[in-house]
Amino acid sequence: MRDASEHRYLIGLGSNCRVPGIGAPRAVLASAAGALADEGWRVEALSRLADSAPVGPSQRRYANAAAVIAGDLRPPDALQSLQHIERTFGRERRGQRWRSRTLDLDIVLWSGGMWRTPGLSIPHPLFRERDFVLHPAAQIAPHWRDPVTGLTIRQLAARLSRPLRTE
Ligand code: AMP
Repeated sequence: MRDASEHRYLIGLGSNCRVPGIGAPRAVLASAAGALADEGWRVEALSRLADSAPVGPSQRRYANAAAVIAGDLRPPDALQSLQHIERTFGRERRGQRWRSRTLDLDIVLWSGGMWRTPGLSIPHPLFRERDFVLHPAAQIAPHWRDPVTGLTIRQLAARLSRPLRTE
């Protein structure tokens, strides 16, 4: 549903396979930023592209980035819009959870705070433990506060990169 007010989202972008006609994961992410604009989003900020180690049995490295996007879609419709973009890049939702991913778009934070309905949780439930989300997000939205912990993205990123205390 569209509404009169503007919604801003911090999103995470990831890819770990080539797309015919586009190229390697980094090119996929650059192209995804264009696809967001084509879908009617205003891309307010895009982080640098980062490489990260694969998660799970997939052996390919990931390329990751974060973006701040703005538009008039409320969270469920925003997710549908992002999933539509994922599909245009050929991601399949069948099969193994950690299969290769053409393009993965996650909603990390929303300007409206928290959202919870079946199939959609904002903040994204895992983002506080994911350096590959926090590191690029800290470049573009360091002061954006997680409504659950009250910590900024910069603080959450610093917490992850600090060595663990062992005593
Ligand atoms: P994944 O395959 O790990 O990217 O998970 C995708 C599924 O997670 C989607 O079908 C969504 O319904 C669900 N989901 C729940 N919360 C979020 C969120 N904040 N951003 C993106 N997907 C979400």
